[in-house]
Amino acid sequence: MVQEEDAGKGGDAGRGDSKARKCPICGKPATPRHRPFCSARCADVDLHRWLGGVYAIPAEDSDEAPPLAGEPRK
Ligand SMILES: [Zn+2]
Repeated sequence: MVQEEDAGKGGDAGRGDSKARKCPICGKPATPRHRPFCSARCADVDLHRWLGGVYAIPAEDSDEAPPLAGEPRK
């Protein structure tokens, strides 16, 4: 038995990942605490973008209204 493959010793897969992570807001290296952002502030900025920016999609009623629970169909 020859064991040439000993690549699974510690699992290096997720090692260099954190290094590449950058804050999408300001571009600074993200911190584990606030990732993918660098700080709570940038996370907040992103949140506001979601709430009042591009992703602000009005909740329209769909064509077919969901069945009302309080209305027995009989
Ligand atoms: Zn940032």
